[in-house]
Amino acid sequence: MKLGIVGLPNVGKSTLFNSLTKAGAESANYPFCTIDPNVGVVAVPDERLEVLGEMYHTKKIVPATIEFVDIAGLVKGASKGEGLGNQFLANIREVDAIVHVVRCFEDENIVHVDGSIAPLRDIETINLELIFSDIEILERRIAKTTKVARNDKSAAKELVLLERLKGYLEEGNMARSFTAEDEEEQEWLESYNLLTYKPVIFAANVTEDDLANDGADNSGVAEVRAYAEKEHCEVFVVCAQIEQEIAELDDDEKKMFLEDLGLSESGLEKLIRASYSLLGLLSYLTAGEQEVKAWTITKGTKAPQAAGKIHSDFERGFIRAEIVSYDDLMACGTYTNAKEKGLVRLEGKEYVVQDGDIVLFRFNV
Ligand code: GDP
Repeated sequence: MKLGIVGLPNVGKSTLFNSLTKAGAESANYPFCTIDPNVGVVAVPDERLEVLGEMYHTKKIVPATIEFVDIAGLVKGASKGEGLGNQFLANIREVDAIVHVVRCFEDENIVHVDGSIAPLRDIETINLELIFSDIEILERRIAKTTKVARNDKSAAKELVLLERLKGYLEEGNMARSFTAEDEEEQEWLESYNLLTYKPVIFAANVTEDDLANDGADNSGVAEVRAYAEKEHCEVFVVCAQIEQEIAELDDDEKKMFLEDLGLSESGLEKLIRASYSLLGLLSYLTAGEQEVKAWTITKGTKAPQAAGKIHSDFERGFIRAEIVSYDDLMACGTYTNAKEKGLVRLEGKEYVVQDGDIVLFRFNV
């Protein structure tokens, strides 16, 4: 899973990205790495793993991860090739979802590219670049499809969709709010990999003072919230600078620091969790003496496909899954107790795996 951090220059993208990767790199239990300077792998915080680690007497804990990409350089005119604009847009095309950082903090020492703090204007500037880039993709597709549409009914139908979609974007809309008329249209829509179709979370970057009441006194945050509500997107309020400071602390110091600020978890933890649910993801768990591990699946995944995440043999030879929910296991204290109480279930091919299921797969080799 890959998330791209976008936003205008000087809004706090790199600060946020650095604190994300730093927080990861310094957490001793987790195997992290930085793939390249702009890509960082971050663990999805999950307290259940530590608890299971103790229960199964293993120190090897493997969390689910998300990749974050710092996509700098998106400016007005990017879609027209300003700066290295087109290259940055291409980077966004590779991510599963977008974290759009919006500057809601005043600081006269840090220049705003457009001269003033105006979150809605900034959002629209970025959106417009994404829309232009998508229109270009659609135009290319239209040219290709037009050629075959004369002798091909399906292509003719797709052409109608493409034209309608292009018109929709030209009115300043995002593809994610476009309504496909049937399943076939929906499949096409998904296949274009449009930037404005990708799910987005807004990160409103505020000062430390605005953090405690979640940006309630910040008119910029209110603007972002109103916009996001209209677009059915999530907003989360963060202070990138504080996150960077928090990322430098060890776990105990961090807890105290957050308590002082009146917070229960860091903004990054919130962001990572929000991204996970935004993407419709959940974790099932495997636990044993060798390791405790979280596996990422999308909501609605059935047992054999979930098994396939571990190994394709597990999916091919799937017989059934032995499952206990994390909560049931905790309530019973041990696996044996859970079994005696009938809470360890045998599930078949049609079972939809749930978040926090602890799973043991039975399969034929
Ligand atoms: P980017 O261009 O969007 O990647 O922005 P940077 O992360 O490089 O940040 C630009 C400047 O703003 C840096 O000097 C940061 O230290 C500063 N900055 C980032 N976040 C905050 C914040 O929450 N509050 C304040 N006052 N400054 C910030």
